[in-house]
Amino acid sequence: MKHAFAAAASAASIASTAAMGSGIEIRNAAEVAVVAGKPDNFTGNAGVRPLLPPNDSTRASVGLVDFAPGARTTWHSHPAGQLLIVTAGMGWIQEANKERRVIESGDVVWIPADVKHWHGATDTTAMSHVALTYWADGKNVDWLEAVSDAQYR
Ligand code: MN
Repeated sequence: MKHAFAAAASAASIASTAAMGSGIEIRNAAEVAVVAGKPDNFTGNAGVRPLLPPNDSTRASVGLVDFAPGARTTWHSHPAGQLLIVTAGMGWIQEANKERRVIESGDVVWIPADVKHWHGATDTTAMSHVALTYWADGKNVDWLEAVSDAQYR
């Protein structure tokens, strides 16, 4: 699936020479293998690119998630919050007991700690987002029940 970082693929040869360790580290999404979203945590076709593990400064896992139309996470919450940057397409996000909302390319979304929610594509459009998922007490997500088709639509 195409995503916003594809345009940066021409810089891959530069990125691949970046030294790991104390210097600046560049990871290009086009170089990171896609991992299928686990069926326990996603409904439909979602691909996850784990871009950068947490470090002492970020304390966040950084990943790019591509949702095909109809794909979404299960309900879940994050013990230290999550920042989403929508990089392509249009999707939906819903907080428990609130109306579903549209998110689209360019939107930045802050999900506070312990807020039950789900996010994903719409039923007819794909959506990609970068997610910075913050860690606390050894975890960055608490997965809950699936979003039913009735809840989703
Ligand atoms: Mn989330």
